[in-house]
Amino acid sequence: MAVGELCLGLPIYMEKQMSDIVILNGRVITFDGPDAEAIAIKDGKVTAVGSTAEIREMAGSAQVIDAQGGTVMPGFIDSHVHLFGGAAELDFLNLTGVIGVEALTAVARPYSAARPDDKLLFACSIDYALIGDRSITRHDLDAAIPDRPFAASTADHHTVYANTKALELAGLLHGADCGTGSEVVMGKDGLATGELLEAAAFMPVLEMTHLGGREMLGMTTGADPIPAPDAKTRAIDKGVIANGYKHCAMHGITSLHNMDGNFYQLELLAEMEAEGTLLCRTEIPMHLKHTDPVERVDEAAEMRAKYSGDMVWSNRVKMFMDGVIDSKTAYMLENYPNTDSRSEPLFSAEHFNEAAIRADAMGLQIAVHAIGDAAVRQTLDGYEAAQKANGVRDSRHRIEHIETIHPSDIPRFKPLGVVASMQPLHSPRGGFFPAYESGDIIHPHQIETAFAWKTLRDAGAALIFSTDWPVVPVDVMPTIQGAVAGVELPSVWLDQRLPLREVLAAYTRDNAWVEFNEHRKGRLRVGMMADVVVMDADLDAMPIDQLGSAMPAVTICGGRITFEA
Ligand SMILES: [Zn+2]
Repeated sequence: MAVGELCLGLPIYMEKQMSDIVILNGRVITFDGPDAEAIAIKDGKVTAVGSTAEIREMAGSAQVIDAQGGTVMPGFIDSHVHLFGGAAELDFLNLTGVIGVEALTAVARPYSAARPDDKLLFACSIDYALIGDRSITRHDLDAAIPDRPFAASTADHHTVYANTKALELAGLLHGADCGTGSEVVMGKDGLATGELLEAAAFMPVLEMTHLGGREMLGMTTGADPIPAPDAKTRAIDKGVIANGYKHCAMHGITSLHNMDGNFYQLELLAEMEAEGTLLCRTEIPMHLKHTDPVERVDEAAEMRAKYSGDMVWSNRVKMFMDGVIDSKTAYMLENYPNTDSRSEPLFSAEHFNEAAIRADAMGLQIAVHAIGDAAVRQTLDGYEAAQKANGVRDSRHRIEHIETIHPSDIPRFKPLGVVASMQPLHSPRGGFFPAYESGDIIHPHQIETAFAWKTLRDAGAALIFSTDWPVVPVDVMPTIQGAVAGVELPSVWLDQRLPLREVLAAYTRDNAWVEFNEHRKGRLRVGMMADVVVMDADLDAMPIDQLGSAMPAVTICGGRITFEA
């Protein structure tokens, strides 16, 4: 029966009542019982799930989306992003895959020509190994761009390299004292080499970009900007974020868990919701720094009280326990190979435990960046202390990254109810970053439990996946391929591949669960939020090493089409 025939006998008002959108001819993964072929959407909710014939009958005057055999599933939830920073980088020159000064020059010169008004030309994702084994210097960047200030940050955002003009502009050429943990690296000639380690060293450079360094908004400072940004700045910032949302929607994303936050970001997003430019639901945490008194945790409760909508909300405290392995700032249980240092935690155990107990007692969720095996252990210890102090509750506290873990800590996740929040593309298995040479950066026995998401899941840990955009692109499917297929690595790397459906669940159903929204999203069933992605292919039928090439055809958030190919 054709749609037109069915509608003939129905009064117009009823016809309009039936559905806003129907999606037909799909391979619908519901994560709620059996697969289906079609769904209907009305007033932002899923109103029916069934066969194409059944749902077609309900179409009425609804907009019909023909999925053409492609996968239809709950919208993707990226559970670890830095929205403003990621969005800002969409506008900068991206140096992923650029190796050598010649290649750098080839992309930097046209970028320079296209941006005549930028005070500082800025690029992101410069490869630590641009020049091979030797550190990058200002002279390398001078060779590409000699006549204008030019700087580039690494993908992990822990280092910026600047050319001579940029160092002059930022007042760093003759060095600067930027406190412990950060460094303007000096050369034998008494001038800065161009290597700027950590935020305090490179902020003077970032401040020269057209965003004035606000792309680090909340990531390092945590607290609200003082003075409060003026109307013009707010408009610029909202424009950056709006661009980021368009990009996320294009990748099928309907929700984001941000990992940096303050009241300013919440205000901007609330304004954007009212203005209709908020394309993804977004959770913003309160960022508690190791230099903060634990009483600051109370701000997180204020944020939660003030922002509790379906589109913008706050319910979490974010902390950093350590740095990253590449710069040997991750806190390890044993010294880095060929060094006498295992780094140290940002929070003392006492300070962290106190903060965890306080946040947990207030019913807040906690998420902690922990990359070194000692940082992971100290975080688990803090969660255990909170459980002892406050009793067992459904806390869903998270540990972010877990790049290394001692085998004896793996079974602790399940009884403590701690969630393993991991990023498949951060692992060399994802094919985005190179594998460590065995024994080079960490010891071979540490590699056996590095990025061990399957091992953790097999030990009963709840497992969720994300990107940590802009550390890697927010693009969903390459990350999914990284967890499902993975590239060949030396045998010391254990196989951590997971079945496709489990990885898709970790990116949808389980990311909805970790935000305490499992009854409202992450599955396609009647009454749930109509957050849906229609893919341009049947993912189950694709060769797993090509999953990364699948793209959304349509993205729907709350019943609103936010992207259409
Ligand atoms: Zn992050």
